[in-house]
Amino acid sequence: MQRRRRLSASAPCLGPRHLLTRKTVVRILAENKRAVGVELMDKGLERITAGEVVLSAGSVHSPTILMHSGIGPAEQLRQHGIAVIVDSPEVGENLQDHPMVPVRAYVKGDLGYQAAAHGLGSVKAGLRYFVTKDGPASGNGIETVSHWNPSDFTAEPTIQCYHAPIIANQELSPTGERSGITFELVVLQPKSRGWVRLADSDPTSMPLINPNFIGEEEDLRAVVESVRAIRKVMAQESLAPVIEEEMEPGPSIQSDAEIGEWVKRAVTTMWHPVGTCRMGQDTRAVVDARLRVRGVDGLRVIDASIMPNITSGNTNAPTQALARHATAMLVGDLKRT
Ligand SMILES: Cc1cc2nc3c(=O)[nH]c(=O)nc-3n(C[C@H](O)[C@H](O)[C@H](O)COP(=O)(O)OP(=O)(O)OC[C@H]3O[C@@H](n4cnc5c(N)ncnc54)[C@H](O)[C@@H]3O)c2cc1C
Repeated sequence: MQRRRRLSASAPCLGPRHLLTRKTVVRILAENKRAVGVELMDKGLERITAGEVVLSAGSVHSPTILMHSGIGPAEQLRQHGIAVIVDSPEVGENLQDHPMVPVRAYVKGDLGYQAAAHGLGSVKAGLRYFVTKDGPASGNGIETVSHWNPSDFTAEPTIQCYHAPIIANQELSPTGERSGITFELVVLQPKSRGWVRLADSDPTSMPLINPNFIGEEEDLRAVVESVRAIRKVMAQESLAPVIEEEMEPGPSIQSDAEIGEWVKRAVTTMWHPVGTCRMGQDTRAVVDARLRVRGVDGLRVIDASIMPNITSGNTNAPTQALARHATAMLVGDLKRT
């Protein structure tokens, strides 16, 4: 935050450096298993040479770039005609994300922010923010968050729940005109693992992504229990008088099987992908504890993709923390050589 405004991470972290922007890295260049630069796509292909390469393209694109550079699961690379430099079987695997399932209920009257999200209401909210810097337009609509364990409220939390005083759609944007509340239920430590794999040999193609949300029974059970817990919360005497009716999953969905089927249809991403260039000490890990890519010198991955396990909370601050730590390690290592 700066002067009561959200601040992009780039301003304080990057500062006045020499940056090349709007260019797409398509490949890491390597000679004799040592990274020597990158290939960029702009109007045509360009090459930049470097003594050390740091890949920070995020959990989808870091593994994709590695694979297009010949670093990844050998069989997959060969299928696409990519010459294998290092057979690193877990590049793109181990994808974890926080699955999110929204429970929505209509509320009585015009409670909440629905009116401020449309037409004249949004103009009023905008003007209020402009003049007083507060009101519905001063935040992202999520006023509070709770962490709890649906089977034992005194135990370590397993669920994160966002409380948005609005009927929000899958992208957390307001939808419809009827006032309401959305409880976004998030599984903090999902057991399911997905993957990012190459669609073809074109480095500008999007990869295939399988988040495998609710792929494991345990994750399904956690969400079903948390839907039941939120229904209990809505029935509390402090909240029940303002709830008009449950919108989703809706009163007709009651048994575990019915809630489970609804969960599988409603589940979406919390936009927290991690794990596709897993850090570890074992030989299958993509990077070691100093974030060096196993099998290639002079190449590191520094972003959320190196997390072996997803954090029990949002991933942005942990990614910035790991980047800070990794940068200090990198500088230390360079000074020693
Ligand atoms: C819609 C959305 C909302 C989110 N909300 C929150 C939130 O409220 N709180 C929270 O904690 N986390 C949130 N996150 C997650 C958070 O943004 C990520 O955990 C974090 O940004 C991960 O950092 P990263 O460095 O791994 O990847 P990124 O921040 O994704 O950085 C990767 C960068 O690499 C660039 N790049 C990718 N491919 C190439 C290429 N081929 N060539 C050149 N550049 C390339 C991308 O443009 C990007 O700038 C949200 C994510 C999304 C998508």
